[in-house]
Amino acid sequence: MYTVLPDSVQVRQSEVNGRGIWTKLPVRAGNVIFVTKPYAAALSTPSLSSHCSSCFALSSTSLLRRCTKCRIAHYCDFTCQTNDWAIHKLECTSLQKWFKAAPSSDIAPPSDAVRCLSRVLWRTQKRGSDTIQAREIANMQSHRKSLKPSAYETHTYLSHSLVQYMGLSGPADMAQYSLSSAADLLDTVSRFVTNTFTVTDPTLVPLGAAVSPVVALINHSCDPNAVVVFPRVSPDPKSQEPLMHVVAIRDIYPEEELCSCSILTAYIDATLPTNLRQQSLNEIYNFKCMCRLCTMVEVDPRTCLNCPKNCGGLCPLPSDGHSLVRCAKCNTVVHLVEAALDALRVGQEGLDKASSLQIKVTDPERSLRLTTNLIPILTSAGFPPSSHPLLGLTRLHQQLLTASFPNPLTQEHLDETIRTATKNVTGLAALLREGHPVLALAVTELGKLLAVDEPSPRPADAQNPKVSAKEVTPASLAIYPPSGLPRLQLAYQTLLRARKMLLIGFGVVNEGGQVGKEVREMIVALEKEIGVFKQGVRNVLEDTRKA
Ligand SMILES: [Zn+2]
Ligand SMILES: [Zn+2]
Ligand SMILES: [Zn+2]
Ligand SMILES: [Zn+2]
Repeated sequence: MYTVLPDSVQVRQSEVNGRGIWTKLPVRAGNVIFVTKPYAAALSTPSLSSHCSSCFALSSTSLLRRCTKCRIAHYCDFTCQTNDWAIHKLECTSLQKWFKAAPSSDIAPPSDAVRCLSRVLWRTQKRGSDTIQAREIANMQSHRKSLKPSAYETHTYLSHSLVQYMGLSGPADMAQYSLSSAADLLDTVSRFVTNTFTVTDPTLVPLGAAVSPVVALINHSCDPNAVVVFPRVSPDPKSQEPLMHVVAIRDIYPEEELCSCSILTAYIDATLPTNLRQQSLNEIYNFKCMCRLCTMVEVDPRTCLNCPKNCGGLCPLPSDGHSLVRCAKCNTVVHLVEAALDALRVGQEGLDKASSLQIKVTDPERSLRLTTNLIPILTSAGFPPSSHPLLGLTRLHQQLLTASFPNPLTQEHLDETIRTATKNVTGLAALLREGHPVLALAVTELGKLLAVDEPSPRPADAQNPKVSAKEVTPASLAIYPPSGLPRLQLAYQTLLRARKMLLIGFGVVNEGGQVGKEVREMIVALEKEIGVFKQGVRNVLEDTRKA
């Protein structure tokens, strides 16, 4: 089994973590450990009309070929449609029946989870249950016996949708998919839920769900040494994509006594504070994480306040709400802890509200008002950019600002977006390793924003050329971002930093994925622009001298 794994990597059983993938040889940051195609994948409902159902490429709806029978699946071209037909043939019939039975004509197709799981079952039925891949699927771990009531409910609901969608009306229908009973089906669903991955585009935007038994073997750490990404760089994307690349984001060395080292990815958002990470891990995966981050005693930049004396140290938040809060570096006592904790509660409620899909999509202005009001409250309460929920609010604020660029763009709106992107980078950099794809993309975003043509650049005498994105102080923030040439130079440095990180996060052999290649081109263009700018200034100076 697991034939996609290279010889340097093996499946090992450990007493603490169960099965996992271990490397016997050292792996450098940016090395692609292995690449695999998911056993099955399905686009999320909103992506169905904008992406190819076979290779997951983005295209405009008018260019995609729509399946004339179900009118749901879209494809780049005939090749993609043919590649998908073996499975889509079965899916297509189910979709048509689903819509025929629907009470109204504008009902949505089943969720990507249901469509992906049905693809797993159809594939196994077609190829037989004793193929290597089917055995890999059957080998995936399930936690059905120890499910939390909330998870049990979700899995039961998913099973019902699946039965309805696939038309499994009795034991004979179930037997076709080697399912012996309803409990067996629930077990399959449970195995699927705990082992499913989100397919993303090269900028980490979620596109759908995928199942890969080999990637599912990788164990979890909140401080991972590897990531799963979809850089989309295959020479012939049509035949292979979506391909999952498992990439090392730091150097990994085999431990001496074990002669190998465990490959670890984060199953959940590692920028969240420990209690929230533990909560999701417990609810979805049913285990208690004991990683370095979950057991560390140092101050966590996710849950702390800045030192009131600005010594550069951080003050851990009280866990019971009462104990004294001191700076871990200079020992200064933080007064006003209650006020800070109030701000934190308000911030958390605001983040939940502003990011709830409903108001983010239907009322983005209201979301933007919320983030605009809450960020200064948390900042003045003493929370650093890396803290929760300030970081989440900042990320959301940046998204909302970018989505609401006025036409024509104003200098004020652009600069506010750049300041927000800078805070986001500062926050993420305190939490994630250099080269983590999330950080790499945040730095890329910042670089791109800095490179946007300024609608009304400031005159040269109002410049502060010493400001760099890495060391923004409250004093320099007033004139940050710089304007004119210093801004272009900052954009250039930022994109160079982004490219270095993208090469790690999306793989050196992948040239940093689609985004890495795009950034390389931007760097070349900026080099030229800066050259022209400098030449222009030289010409003006010379002209003035001559005059
Ligand atoms: Zn395609
Ligand atoms: Zn169809
Ligand atoms: Zn952990
Ligand atoms: Zn201090």
